[in-house]
Amino acid sequence: MKLAKRAYVPLSRLRERVRREGALFSAACTDCPRLSNFLAQVRISHPDYFAQPVPPFGVDAPRLLIVGLAPGMHGANRTGRPFTGDFAGILLYDTLHRYGFASRPASEHAADGLELIDCRITNAVKCLPPENKPDTNEIKICNKYLSEELKVLDKYTAVLALGLIAHKAVLMALGLKQGNYAFGHAAEHRLPNGLSLFDSYHCSRYNTQTKRLTHAMFHAVFERIRDKIDSKNTGEPRTNTDEHG
Ligand code: SF4
Repeated sequence: MKLAKRAYVPLSRLRERVRREGALFSAACTDCPRLSNFLAQVRISHPDYFAQPVPPFGVDAPRLLIVGLAPGMHGANRTGRPFTGDFAGILLYDTLHRYGFASRPASEHAADGLELIDCRITNAVKCLPPENKPDTNEIKICNKYLSEELKVLDKYTAVLALGLIAHKAVLMALGLKQGNYAFGHAAEHRLPNGLSLFDSYHCSRYNTQTKRLTHAMFHAVFERIRDKIDSKNTGEPRTNTDEHG
């Protein structure tokens, strides 16, 4: 039987389609009952908090995609922007600015006008988990959104996984064997689809205060990412403040 020839769909059209169809992110998603119920409780206990699935933040076609774990209670879950409002975002946004990926060194709130440049930030799990711990099934269920985000990246895009869970979620989303790509701080993996996966310890308060992750260690990872991106791309920087809903 002759297979039908697959129609070529430009990435820009594919991106538009996944956004339109809500494949990239859904603000109304309640597919994880435990997380959904938890958010309902948080909306009652903290009526001024965002307390919904937190959308990715940044440009549509990034040259750097950063993948975190999940919204923090008083950070992204409060403000509605990844890594904004709690300790983890302080080092991250300062570093993004230092290496030319953000217009300012701090992310204060979702309407502060901050622009990311060539960069987009997302989480492996889009909803706040109790005690910052999503369970394995929730990571799997939410992986469909990360999979769509990765699918529409240009070849040579750098993906930075912040922590082991984000690293595993990226591999899961791409259908790659975990055993072939060991997590390690400052590790770099060339993936079969042309993406480069970089790893870093998560920039959490715990990791930075215990010096498991120092500023110098984090900067060194971004320095390599910057070099990699600059060696592969000659086009104009991509910017916007698009926050998907
Ligand atoms: S964690 Fe992801 S899949 Fe689960 S309810 Fe939230 S958005 Fe939906």
